[in-house]
Amino acid sequence: MAVMMPKVLDCEVAGCSYNKNKACHAMAITVGSMRHPQCDTYLNATQQGGVPDTTGGVGACKEDDCRFNRSLECTASGIHVGIHMDHADCKTFAQR
Ligand code: SF4
Repeated sequence: MAVMMPKVLDCEVAGCSYNKNKACHAMAITVGSMRHPQCDTYLNATQQGGVPDTTGGVGACKEDDCRFNRSLECTASGIHVGIHMDHADCKTFAQR
């Protein structure tokens, strides 16, 4: 069975190097720290990162307590990323 990589539908973290106009341009992000559903790919650097005509996908997710998580992969149709305190979080995370 083919598995599709979920897209980052939008990201409000304008200070991330992979963000342009509220879109993520990393090829694939990793979500989670096994304790919190943060975007683990977030980077605040002067260099612009990513691929301009690519929309970021969720390459892996370490939050196995999310109901969308299967075998440490994300099965949501897409995710939203936003600001939580001083870091970027997956806002689609839903506790099992
Ligand atoms: S989803 Fe993560 S890597 Fe992509 S722009 Fe937002 S914070 Fe940066």
